[in-house]
Amino acid sequence: MIKIKNVSKNFGKNKVLADINMTIEKSNVVALIGPSGAGKSTLIRTINALEEIDQGEIIVEDVSIHQKGTDINKARTQIGFVFQSFNLYPFLTVLENVTIAPIKVKGIEKVKAIAKGKELLTSLGLEDKFDVYPSRLSGGQQQRVAIARALAMEPHVMLFDEPTSALDPEMVQEVLDAIRKLAADGMTMVVVTHEMGFAKEICDQIVFMAEGQIVEVAPPEEFFSSPKSERAKTFLSKVLNH
Ligand code: ADP
Ligand code: MG
Repeated sequence: MIKIKNVSKNFGKNKVLADINMTIEKSNVVALIGPSGAGKSTLIRTINALEEIDQGEIIVEDVSIHQKGTDINKARTQIGFVFQSFNLYPFLTVLENVTIAPIKVKGIEKVKAIAKGKELLTSLGLEDKFDVYPSRLSGGQQQRVAIARALAMEPHVMLFDEPTSALDPEMVQEVLDAIRKLAADGMTMVVVTHEMGFAKEICDQIVFMAEGQIVEVAPPEEFFSSPKSERAKTFLSKVLNH
């Protein structure tokens, strides 16, 4: 479970997050949507302390992430993060990319980490890529490796910041399928996405942000069929007509 309580953040004079409150229950999937500059990336990055906050509190699985004294590296092992740019280690093979953190950070035995890594990669359709270097993979394949790498730490929650935005259109589905499968398996997730059909299909809740604020929170059917705020109506009319 993720709890975000009264979180505010400024970049200089720019109020990027203004008193954000939201709760993501265990096994729920929340889509964070909204126009560019709304603060979606900043918000999702505060959940594992890639961004500091000025006010408020964020709790992930009973750990207060921004509190002094919290072992953030330990807390981060519970939180998988997948970015728009895949950020794989270029000089490691696919399997090494997936096993390095479990071995080095969690102290998992190498044979066990390799077995688990192979299992994850296989479940993501990458069973013939174990010994390949990332540069030899397509964007969709690299993003699936990035998902496997995050899952190898056995996180309790997964965060995705526009995981398909850097992909060629024909590779979007294979990555969405991987996230869909995680949702079906009961993973707790926050997904920043512009894939509205996907958000509608897999999410329990839509959180619509604009200008650093949460403007609207609703179940997908409701949000897409009858958005309440003018801001959401305008946004949807732009993204759904293209
Ligand atoms: P979104 O992901 O919704 O497009 P962001 O969270 O990236 O929005 O950005 C929200 C606002 O914060 C924007 O006005 C952006 O310019 C600003 N911002 C983001 N990161 C930084 C930073 N590191 N320094 C200063 N301003 C930033
Ligand atoms: Mg962003």
